[in-house]
Amino acid sequence: MSETTTGGGRRVSRRRLLLGGSAAGLGAAGVAAYAARDDLARMWWRLPGIEKPRTAGAVDQPGAEWIAASGANWRWADRPDDYPIDRVVIHVVQGSYDDAVRVFKDPRHLAAAHYIVRRDGHIAQMVRELDVAFHAGNRPYNERSIGIEHEGFVSRPSSFTDAMYRSSARLTASICERYGIPRDREHIVGHVEVPGTDHTDPGRHWDWDRYMRLVRAVRVKRAAG
Ligand SMILES: [Zn+2]
Repeated sequence: MSETTTGGGRRVSRRRLLLGGSAAGLGAAGVAAYAARDDLARMWWRLPGIEKPRTAGAVDQPGAEWIAASGANWRWADRPDDYPIDRVVIHVVQGSYDDAVRVFKDPRHLAAAHYIVRRDGHIAQMVRELDVAFHAGNRPYNERSIGIEHEGFVSRPSSFTDAMYRSSARLTASICERYGIPRDREHIVGHVEVPGTDHTDPGRHWDWDRYMRLVRAVRVKRAAG
């Protein structure tokens, strides 16, 4: 999300700190137009026979905990059939895991990522991979990517634990296998690298060399059938 830092991290509102997605920089009119387009898209995809079957509580990543984000923070889609998925976007919350879960459940937040990785490696999935989560602040990038948040702060190297790196790397490697995405830095990017963004996460303390080594080392078992 954003690198708005304060001494205690408390004086700036959480909503502002955690606003990671589509609404940032659009202004009220932009948000309304964005929402209207999303409503149209959602109605279209709800026509019978078009959408994939969905099971309540199902996750795309084995072992992830399902916690539903508010429907205002993502858009119903049918990826990768309607939009190919070829990017993974790495974020840092600028707050705790619980902060991220709370705002992604809040319909006023207008942003959410597909996943949140906790310090201890626990993973919550809050938006299905076939749906478009509002996390990158860039519509085409939201449509083509999976967003992964990481608990912690860009300014604190201690946020990024070994358990977090390993768990996130397994997740990213699995996503790459599911959609045939190359495990390289062209396709696995930081929010800071999304065109037009003013966000800086994951920041200079995120160890990309270490992360990419871990991502490449993961051997993913393909699901049978
Ligand atoms: Zn971000």
